[in-house]
Amino acid sequence: MEIYEQETKLYKSLMHPARLAILDLLREGEACVCHMEATFGHRQAYISQQLMVLRDAGLVEDRRDGLNIYYRVIRPEIFAVLDAMRKVTGIRTSAAKPKRNACACPNCAEESIGKLIEI
Ligand SMILES: [Zn+2]
Repeated sequence: MEIYEQETKLYKSLMHPARLAILDLLREGEACVCHMEATFGHRQAYISQQLMVLRDAGLVEDRRDGLNIYYRVIRPEIFAVLDAMRKVTGIRTSAAKPKRNACACPNCAEESIGKLIEI
């Protein structure tokens, strides 16, 4: 039964709207916790709690860079599972974008500098 327990842990990690949303956001690559905060409008403690479940399930990994903690998906095979499920539900999801200036992460900061130069 041990293999089923391991599998169940993985399935359970997917059984939460916030965790599915986080995985969707991470399809585009790694993102820092502050970015997820700005994107979803949840508190950092809440986001971190959800990330912990995904990490325990072996789906994501974190990396610290200065004050920022970045997360990335280390088992991208999971996206095929989510896509297969969406064929059943018929739901098409695209990751929510953070509001402009809502996020101070280096990625978003770079993006807004790019926009300023464009103008
Ligand atoms: Zn950001």
